[in-house]
Amino acid sequence: MTFKELNLKPELLSAVEELGFEYPTPVQEKTIPFVLTSNSDLVSLAQTGTGKTAAFGLPVLHLIDPQIRRVQALVLAPTRELCLQISKDLKNYSKNMSGLAIVPLYGGEDIRIQLRQLDTSPQILVATPGRLIDLIERGKVKLDALDFLILDEADEMLNMGFKEDIETILEQTPDTRRTLLFSATMPKEIANIARRYMKDFEEITIGARNSASDNVAHIYYIAQARHRYLVLKRIVDMNPDIYGIVFCRTRQETKEVAEKLMQDGYNADALHGDLSQAQRDTVMAKFRVRNLQLLVATDVAARGLDVNNLTHVINYNLPDDVEVYTHRSGRTGRANKKGVSMSIIHTKEKFKIRDIEKMLRKTFERQAIPNGLEVCKKQLFHLIDRMQKVEVDEEQIAPYMKQIVKQLEYLTKEDLLTRFVSLEFNRFLNYYKDAEDLNVSEAPARGSQKGDARSGRRIRLKINLGEKQAMTPKRILGIINDVTGDKSISIASIEIAKKFTFFDVYADQVERLMEAFLHQDGIELAEAKGSKSYSAASNRKTERAAQRKGEPGRKRGGSGRKSSATKSEKPWRNRERNAPSSSARRKGK
Ligand code: AMP
Repeated sequence: MTFKELNLKPELLSAVEELGFEYPTPVQEKTIPFVLTSNSDLVSLAQTGTGKTAAFGLPVLHLIDPQIRRVQALVLAPTRELCLQISKDLKNYSKNMSGLAIVPLYGGEDIRIQLRQLDTSPQILVATPGRLIDLIERGKVKLDALDFLILDEADEMLNMGFKEDIETILEQTPDTRRTLLFSATMPKEIANIARRYMKDFEEITIGARNSASDNVAHIYYIAQARHRYLVLKRIVDMNPDIYGIVFCRTRQETKEVAEKLMQDGYNADALHGDLSQAQRDTVMAKFRVRNLQLLVATDVAARGLDVNNLTHVINYNLPDDVEVYTHRSGRTGRANKKGVSMSIIHTKEKFKIRDIEKMLRKTFERQAIPNGLEVCKKQLFHLIDRMQKVEVDEEQIAPYMKQIVKQLEYLTKEDLLTRFVSLEFNRFLNYYKDAEDLNVSEAPARGSQKGDARSGRRIRLKINLGEKQAMTPKRILGIINDVTGDKSISIASIEIAKKFTFFDVYADQVERLMEAFLHQDGIELAEAKGSKSYSAASNRKTERAAQRKGEPGRKRGGSGRKSSATKSEKPWRNRERNAPSSSARRKGK
């Protein structure tokens, strides 16, 4: 199907052509004729990136009358960024139409500017719910003759607590309006809103209900929780041209991961709720123009960010909610491009992958965490590739060439190549030469988490907190949750004595627990006497304790405090001092 066949006004067709849209996207093919020819309401399950703004924008622009100066269409969206994006898109689509005013209304901007814009009697408003209600209450916006109400990213609006605001707004609009609701997912609350406020509506679904884009490949890596950051680095190093978002669960984690990445020489920054609006705008602007390669963000902070050409989404932690995963992964694979959604999980989270697979009706592929050799090879050939493609400014280099040739004339071509490659590459080789295998040594993910856990051995541990410290089972669980940050660790048979508390843990969770408690001053966690099966982890503890004191570890032997793992966490720390990092150079490419 072509845009011409959709019977849109010539002004709209010419704009679409100027924007370079050749064919309507699937959501446009279905939605545009429906809005143009039917009188019913619409519920459309489509993610951002599928072309849904044009899907509702083009037919609404076709149907409204620019000669009439009153609000004919209202688009409600969850964030100010999305508001601005939609209003920019609508202005683009209508650039060849005259007499049309489109005004975005959102919080966080001086209301006087928006009041002035409202004085132009716009036909289309694009608003966030809170600011719109404010303006309605001031008597500055009237919706009593509204023809079209579009609820965009309706599930996100509900997630952000706008349910009542939406209802208040709906009540301000006439029954004769048409409602077009767009949502990436279909939770019950959306169905309720549709039932309550919409007339006999049509449902248009692109792909399966609650489905993810076909353009996205879903991959997961299984690692120990303590290796999460190292795995992230391997993934990033394996994908030198990555342009993506790393999703974290909390602000704290977001800050920590972004800081570590920056320290390690990556072109990354953080986006989270502790930043001021101005700081957020700066980070987002840098990311949008690809001045940043990696954005580490919480789900909430990333909401407003609308970027279409991300190569990867990385789930540093899996979200608890499948819908959140759908939103995250839907940030890549947009506008007909391919994308990859990667998740770093620990063994106990395999069941979550199964749940998401079921909901999304997609198969996730488990991949091995790349080893040092693979990363080095990838980086090396990426370097060679860049060398082949580099633009050479002969004129600028010419004055120096004679001296350079003279200085290097004793080297063969092969020597020369080896040296140039080593110059850039030694740091990678050094970092990865002793890199440990981060893969969890077990058969690839199969079976449910519950099954795995039930078949596991239990180990009895003791912690030096007891009645004397007013411990209760609840407090013990609270402490374990706080220290590990991992609620999936299963604790059983808690027994509180005077100075100690004893409890059981599955054998494969002991290490994670011990690691977490290693850094807790004054708190000692150890195997309870008589528990024979705990030799591996207690050895490791002794080894770590020895390393902390600067002695060689028992097992690793000789490396002392600078174990390969410690050293390898910051491979190109001094990189900027000597030369810009490859990622920094890529920025300028
Ligand atoms: P949206 O889902 O509305 O956020 O659109 C995602 C991106 O796809 C935007 O950058 C649009 O400009 C672009 N787009 C929308 N429709 C088309 C089309 N028919 N062909 C190519 N690109 C499109």
